[in-house]
Amino acid sequence: MRTLRTTREVRAALFGARTSGKRIGLVPTMGAFHDGHLSLMRTARAESDVVVVSLFVNPLQFAAGEDLHRYPRNEADDAESAATAGVDFLFAPSDEEMFPPGFATSVDPGAVALGLCGANRPGHFEGVATVVTRLFGIVGPDTAYFGLKDYQQVAVIRRIVEDLALPVEIRALPTVREPDGLAMSSRNRYLTPEERERAVGLFHALQHASSRYAEGERDPAVLCATAAATLGDAGLDVEYVEVRDAETLGVYTPERAAVLAVAVRVGDTRLIDNIVLAPALKPVQRFAGRTNWSEA
Ligand code: AMP
Repeated sequence: MRTLRTTREVRAALFGARTSGKRIGLVPTMGAFHDGHLSLMRTARAESDVVVVSLFVNPLQFAAGEDLHRYPRNEADDAESAATAGVDFLFAPSDEEMFPPGFATSVDPGAVALGLCGANRPGHFEGVATVVTRLFGIVGPDTAYFGLKDYQQVAVIRRIVEDLALPVEIRALPTVREPDGLAMSSRNRYLTPEERERAVGLFHALQHASSRYAEGERDPAVLCATAAATLGDAGLDVEYVEVRDAETLGVYTPERAAVLAVAVRVGDTRLIDNIVLAPALKPVQRFAGRTNWSEA
């Protein structure tokens, strides 16, 4: 595996693959790799001829007062894990490379970025959309891989790809969890042992709401209250608990699949998770790695 620092190096490294029609897979990340990241890399490896992983802690997606400065950074360890997962190139640019003098463009994904994390993290999804669009421009991937743990992020990326007609297929992969169910996250390493024990309440809350849904409950207020009660019992501070339409993230209607999305604070750490609620549903149409759901 080779580490690349500049757009020029990336273009030179990928030139041969691109001109010979090889498939390029990109996994955008902020580093501090865990099995969630590695599952994206392994899938990219299985589906692509050339795998590029970007490692860039994107300052645009952190609001003032968030954890930009303490975000875990260990490029040497990450490079080793990525090499083991079969990655060909690690693209680890500097801030100056990503934001050269005169840089001024911002990508605003519109309504899909409002609400949920967008409401609580001003500018977050514009920051994600701007940097991911630039990464797509630098790497020119055929396919880009994202995790459904960041459910709204996937919706944002799909929106910009569609609206800007970007020639890339988006693959969204399931959330990888710890044995007790806690979603893997680079931020889990902030947790004290006591906070780590409480944090699993996030997963239990999703499960309780999901059980109510499986029993036939369709009232979003009841589903949210079920989750909120479990979060409260676990001693987690709720930032939001919401049920939204699983595809548009707009208002939920009972005949369509829903996503229950949750953000909490555990001490100084912000954690998110989600679950798709879709009983007796079957995928009826697949295109570009995307699934449309309808009642079976
Ligand atoms: P990050 O480094 O946190 O920006 O994440 C990079 C990519 O890994 C994003 O597409 C995330 O959604 C994905 N990811 C993070 N945690 C997980 C997880 N537990 N399971 C699957 N994908 C994940």
